[in-house]
Amino acid sequence: MPELPEVEVTRLSLLPHVLNRRIDHAQVLIPKLRYPIDPTLSQRITGATITRIERRSKYLTITTSQGSLMVHLGMTGTLTIKPLDAPLLKHDHAHFSIGEHSLRFNDPRRFGALLWAEPGNEENLFHPLLKKLGIEPFDPLFTGEYLWQHARQRQQAIKPLLLSGDIVVGVGNIYASEALFKAGILPQRSAKRIAKERYQRLALAIQDTLQQAITLGGSTLRDFQHGIEQNGYFQIHHQVYDREQQPCHHCQSPIRRIRQAQRSTFYCPQCQR
Ligand SMILES: [Zn+2]
Repeated sequence: MPELPEVEVTRLSLLPHVLNRRIDHAQVLIPKLRYPIDPTLSQRITGATITRIERRSKYLTITTSQGSLMVHLGMTGTLTIKPLDAPLLKHDHAHFSIGEHSLRFNDPRRFGALLWAEPGNEENLFHPLLKKLGIEPFDPLFTGEYLWQHARQRQQAIKPLLLSGDIVVGVGNIYASEALFKAGILPQRSAKRIAKERYQRLALAIQDTLQQAITLGGSTLRDFQHGIEQNGYFQIHHQVYDREQQPCHHCQSPIRRIRQAQRSTFYCPQCQR
């Protein structure tokens, strides 16, 4: 499943090709997605100039001179730039001709979304999807103090709390295990029993882990789609994730795996407390 780093790298990869460019032609091939694509989308967006692409959590908003398109990649979606004459693929749901390029939305499992909002209607249409989201991990307001303030009122263990996305967005399953290892915090520790100084380390570890994945994604853009199809994650060098029984790189103890909220968690019983 594409996570925040993949969505951010998608945004960065599109910008140089589509920003301030005109959509010459658009076509919806398969409208069936998590929400059906507006059947009038091609008419409404043709001729529009793309003025901004922003990301909030895993949503991308493509703002144009004629309205805004919100994109979610769901479980298997990709939004990629191809040469204009590249053949259409089986699960291409829509394509947009922009100069010598074609912007393609492909999604085999159809959990993604392409939502069109006319100017002035963005708030109505997009706000309900965004309003419950936690803060962005790269927002200057996201600090150890912020994490501590919010987490100490909660009854959950720290790892499922991070995954829930209602305090901070973008900390998917792999990134949560890796960031907790980096911060030396046991994933099953009660969120309200973790000291403020340790939350400061955790906030930095979350930013480091996500930034590492974004940087790696940027440098392997050519393989981006391939990577998504394989497992949906950039191959950051895992310290604990998917390393059950293998020796910890720091202390040689065997890495352990447990289940928390139906997800696998990996940790080092020596380095994390
Ligand atoms: Zn260790």
